[in-house]
Amino acid sequence: MAKYDAVIVGSGPNGLAAAITLQQQGLSTLLVEGSDTIGGGLRTKELTLSGYKHDVCSAIHPMAMASPFMRSLPLEEYGLSFTFARYEAAHPLLRETGAVLSRNLEETIQQLGDDGKLYRSLIQDVVDRWEILAEDTMGPLRFPKDPILLASFGWKAVLPASWVASRFKTERAKALWAGMAAHGIQPLSNWTTSAIGMVLMAVGHRFGWAIPVGGSQEHS
Ligand SMILES: Cc1cc2nc3c(=O)[nH]c(=O)nc-3n(C[C@H](O)[C@H](O)[C@H](O)COP(=O)(O)OP(=O)(O)OC[C@H]3O[C@@H](n4cnc5c(N)ncnc54)[C@H](O)[C@@H]3O)c2cc1C
Repeated sequence: MAKYDAVIVGSGPNGLAAAITLQQQGLSTLLVEGSDTIGGGLRTKELTLSGYKHDVCSAIHPMAMASPFMRSLPLEEYGLSFTFARYEAAHPLLRETGAVLSRNLEETIQQLGDDGKLYRSLIQDVVDRWEILAEDTMGPLRFPKDPILLASFGWKAVLPASWVASRFKTERAKALWAGMAAHGIQPLSNWTTSAIGMVLMAVGHRFGWAIPVGGSQEHS
């Protein structure tokens, strides 16, 4: 029977990342997948018409350019290319023009009117200093490279998103913020729900929200 240094259960993005990391260290690795195709949340399938592909789960990849690990992979050499929409995200409203998350931070701030200042105070540091923050928040546990930056991010990120929403005055800002924080898939009154909102918005401004041409599984 074959022996492996490591066995990874599940071939979603996290399983694939773990397998690549272990193999890069020279360890023999077995990746086990229970479903009929690999990819987990990255699967693309012909769900309706033949030749018409749907991303079954994940379709837009805000962390593709923002994650130090993802950036380290030569995925273009395997045929991956990204495209970007005019706006990263939009939140429609019933009685007024909706809110958009634009790659351009100043454009986003401007449309938020009275709430632009609060939005900037939440996001500007995360946008400007993403590389350091990414290493301190997404890497192995160790003493942070920039403890002050991490603390300044941390005290805002730990807040319930509903509390932050209550500080915004305009419907636009509340809607845009809530839509982002809702990606955490938990009640917005929970502690730390602001973290996902801040990160998704900041990486949208910094890198854009990448859309893989042909679908998430196009080149697997
Ligand atoms: C509806 C929806 C839409 C989303 N859209 C986006 C998006 O647009 N952009 C984005 O960045 N993120 C999106 N996400 C989040 C993203 O899909 C997940 O964060 C990501 O897939 C998590 O990766 P993972 O490897 O941890 O788990 P998964 O992708 O869920 O992979 C787990 C894998 O493990 C396998 N498995 C589980 N148990 C076993 C077992 N016992 N034996 C063998 N195999 C097993 C499963 O079959 C699966 O293939 C979305 C999530 C949902 C639910």
